[in-house]
Amino acid sequence: MTAHRLTGAPVAQRLRAETDGNVATLRRRGAVPGLAVVVATDHEATLWYVRSIARAADKAGVHCTVVDLGADAGADELISTLTLLSADEDVHGIILQTPLPPGVDGDELVAHISAAKDVDGANPLSLGRLTVGQEAFAPATARAVVEILEHYEVPLAGRHVSVVGRSTVVGKPLLQLLLQRDATVTVCHSRSRPLERYTSEAEVVVAAVGRPGLLTGALVRAGAVVIDVGTNVLDNGDLVGDVEPVSTTEVAAALTPVPGGVGTVTTALLLLHTTQAALQAGGETASVRASGQGASA
Ligand code: NAP
Repeated sequence: MTAHRLTGAPVAQRLRAETDGNVATLRRRGAVPGLAVVVATDHEATLWYVRSIARAADKAGVHCTVVDLGADAGADELISTLTLLSADEDVHGIILQTPLPPGVDGDELVAHISAAKDVDGANPLSLGRLTVGQEAFAPATARAVVEILEHYEVPLAGRHVSVVGRSTVVGKPLLQLLLQRDATVTVCHSRSRPLERYTSEAEVVVAAVGRPGLLTGALVRAGAVVIDVGTNVLDNGDLVGDVEPVSTTEVAAALTPVPGGVGTVTTALLLLHTTQAALQAGGETASVRASGQGASA
């Protein structure tokens, strides 16, 4: 068997068309959607990622401001920046980019992002609302996984999905999004041993760990759909996922590539969420529901 490549490009294209429509509506009203990305690192791969968001925003007609506080920014400075941006009427979406300076508690900081502008679902309120099925922006990466599965018409209701990784930005919100779609979900983490016990029976396996080659063909069942969320930069500069592609391609029915899979869709979703937040700020009930219950209806 040779797995199909589930590329992110057609999914991102559809999301960009939706974003374009929202931008046009906002412009007719004299409004420009605004996104602020707060950065406090000198990690080159992160800065590259932030620049790629800014470029995509520019193309989409979303005004993007990168607020670079430097790698030695303190918690107070970060909190006051997030508080100011939350009150700024020209800013509709706020992202706090990780990694943060050592010793700074990210969980404390994200609570200072206004829930209405929390376009990457980082504020604990957003995850709480998602958990109980209320309107909220889901973290873009978690939603990107579901958008890809739905685009390629991978059935979820009644299927067993194994998610490897339980972080607040990927694994936990993805659990909620999958439960809302009636999947049966196993969430694995570093203490789930042996991992194949939890992955080898699943119809869909999502790898979101941050370890190259963690998931091999030996860990998945024949015909499984495998979604690779991992983004790892090797010493030679190559970007690879968590899935070992050669052995997995021989066993799985479908696999997302890295790069060109989940990451592509994540960026498109951040911009879509920003335009939805801008519409809502203007009093329109733009649906962010695609991230919540009943989205696939
Ligand atoms: P994270 O916060 O470090 O979480 C990693 C998770 O993996 C943890 O739950 C950890 O378990 C689990 N884990 C570690 N070793 C494991 C093992 N041997 N077996 C099973 N589980 C294991 O990472 P993250 O922020 O979720 O990111 C995960 C990956 O996704 C990274 O490569 C990141 O770069 C990538 N990512 C991609 C995008 C995108 O747009 N494509 C966006 C965000 C993140 P414990 O909880 O027990 O520690």
